[in-house]
Amino acid sequence: RAELIVVGTGYRAVGDLTLEAKACIEQADVVLCLIGDPMVTGFLERLNPSVRTLDGFYAAGKPRTASYEEMVRDILAEVRRDKLVCCALYGHPGVFAYVGHEAVRRARLEGTPARMLAASSAEDWLFADMGLDPGTCGCQSFEATDFLLRRRIFDPTSLLVLWQAGVIGMADRDPGFDHRPGAGLLTERLIAAYGRDHEATVYEASPYVVTPPRISPVPLAKLPDVPMSAGSTLVVPPLPARPADPEVTARLRATCS
Ligand code: SAH
Repeated sequence: RAELIVVGTGYRAVGDLTLEAKACIEQADVVLCLIGDPMVTGFLERLNPSVRTLDGFYAAGKPRTASYEEMVRDILAEVRRDKLVCCALYGHPGVFAYVGHEAVRRARLEGTPARMLAASSAEDWLFADMGLDPGTCGCQSFEATDFLLRRRIFDPTSLLVLWQAGVIGMADRDPGFDHRPGAGLLTERLIAAYGRDHEATVYEASPYVVTPPRISPVPLAKLPDVPMSAGSTLVVPPLPARPADPEVTARLRATCS
């Protein structure tokens, strides 16, 4: 019976839970979850009384990587007890999220069937709430600290989404984290490509139908002055498109005619 299924609960409590994810939660011998929203955790408990949260592995001052490693080990320990284990994570369980992918990888290494189901990520809600289509100019998604550290190459005429923009450089779970130094670095990097007055948006999806999402416009130069949290995503709209390449245009015409 040993099997691992990693599911996502999306953002909208609890409407984002797919019917398939719900069935997995109901059928599991044990459900391990990392969700943050007590209402969603409570709902899962009603579906399956075996729910246990992984929140306890987080601690102030403890490196996040250490917390994640302990969570993965905990999940694998349940799988080794010959159980059908369902691991439920908020958002999409495999988008900017280490624990789910790593648990699936290690379970498979041990010969246990393991799979992940897709769910709504913050970006999916962002496209809906902000009326943006990633197909219009393309879309680039980066983790904000990685974007700065590796000097990621990006195209400013395409949509840019920066995840974890409110926790740049944060290695542990620090409730009093000051986001301004990281935001200052981000401002410098972005201003060089877009100019000071280009308007970005701090976006936070809302878990409830009755509460609107946070959509705060901010000129890039003022980025360090706006509040950002661990749940903030920064959206930078594209500069005007560059003209189409005449050679490619001509060659496409040639092949089309
Ligand atoms: N697996 C999650 C992402 C986890 S990484 C998903 O599929 O969406 C954490 C990052 O997700 C945050 O730093 C932020 O960039 C984004 N995020 C988390 N909660 C959010 C929310 N309510 N609104 C917008 N972005 C959010």
